[in-house]
Amino acid sequence: MTLSSSGPPSTRPHSPGAHPRVLGRYSSGRPGPTVVCIGALHGNEPAGLSAISRVLARLQDGGVPLRGELIGVAGNRRALIEERRFVDRDLNRRWSPDNIARIAAGTIETSEDQETRELLAVFLPLLRRGPVHFIDLHSTSGLSTPFSCMADVLRNRPLALALPIPVVLGLEEVIEGSMLGYLCDLGHVGVAIEGGQHSDPRTVDFHESALLLMLVAAGSLEARHVPDLAAHRARLAAVNSGMPAVCEIRHRHVIKAEDEPFVMLPGFVNFQIVERGQVVADDRRGSVRVPETGLMMLPRYQGQGDDGYFIARPVSRTALRVSAALRTLRLDVLVPWLPGVSRHPERADHYVADPAVARVAVEQVFHLFGYRHVRADAERLVFSRRRPAARPVLPAELQRLREGDETVEG
Ligand SMILES: [Zn+2]
Repeated sequence: MTLSSSGPPSTRPHSPGAHPRVLGRYSSGRPGPTVVCIGALHGNEPAGLSAISRVLARLQDGGVPLRGELIGVAGNRRALIEERRFVDRDLNRRWSPDNIARIAAGTIETSEDQETRELLAVFLPLLRRGPVHFIDLHSTSGLSTPFSCMADVLRNRPLALALPIPVVLGLEEVIEGSMLGYLCDLGHVGVAIEGGQHSDPRTVDFHESALLLMLVAAGSLEARHVPDLAAHRARLAAVNSGMPAVCEIRHRHVIKAEDEPFVMLPGFVNFQIVERGQVVADDRRGSVRVPETGLMMLPRYQGQGDDGYFIARPVSRTALRVSAALRTLRLDVLVPWLPGVSRHPERADHYVADPAVARVAVEQVFHLFGYRHVRADAERLVFSRRRPAARPVLPAELQRLREGDETVEG
């Protein structure tokens, strides 16, 4: 079966204007996973909203016997109206326990604080219920084929690896305070999809296909309930030839206020190979050169945000299998015996690596064991253990949210 290329208006991303916070909920009453799909966490990325609406309409119209519940949620509603990435600050940053505690306590400083508070109000009853699968739909300013992003915990892998598109690991390690990073640290599942360029009508199609495939991978849908499933897989696979299956972020170019104007040279696309020393952008100080050979990711072709570009490199399937085995066998108990590695004096589940001793591949070794590099310490390399699969707990900062705060209109 092939998918009809759906013409306007269904391919056109949602027109700007007021969007309800909850786009829709669907359940057939059968027990199963809770899946929350978020679109437009960045206000200039409305394609995800259209894809969510399409999938919800398909389930409702067909009376599909979904297991569990699918909840569609709009991200930055105020920025959506203005068709901007954000109003005051990036909504996909500063999801740190401290910041969430402040917002939950009612101290609202920015438009995005208010958005965060309203999102938490939708999430809170679901987080109380048990593990939640969060799927976060984004698009890019530069030309791109679809790919997914996730923190490399084993529970995230079935969803991301179900898609015939590249998986990018470690973005949450270099971007402080992403929403999925926070929710994943609480023990939930979180996968982000970059569906393509903001204004490309195919981006909605790719998001739709990715969401349907992930609903099957999550156990919400059975394959027989999605008769065109093979066509959705083929739609994604068709644009994915020659891409690495999995890669990890190695470098983030941070744009400081004094670097502006930062201007990417034209023509860079995701997964394009760039060489060490190659000039990729200009800023106030002159030419911006790539620090290591790798794959260009998320070049900034719009004016907002402090991420200039990222450099990734491929990870082998073997490395993924090895790391799954290591973690399943709980061989991470060996971590403190690695040369140059010691327990963090104050923080549980954190280790400190002496770069002078443990220099060889120390980051890769920690990644294999399910640890991530935390940038808390300038001198030493500090790694923290990502929360493995377990019953998620409601953290103290969310317990402070009052019941009344959970009601938001729309
Ligand atoms: Zn985005």
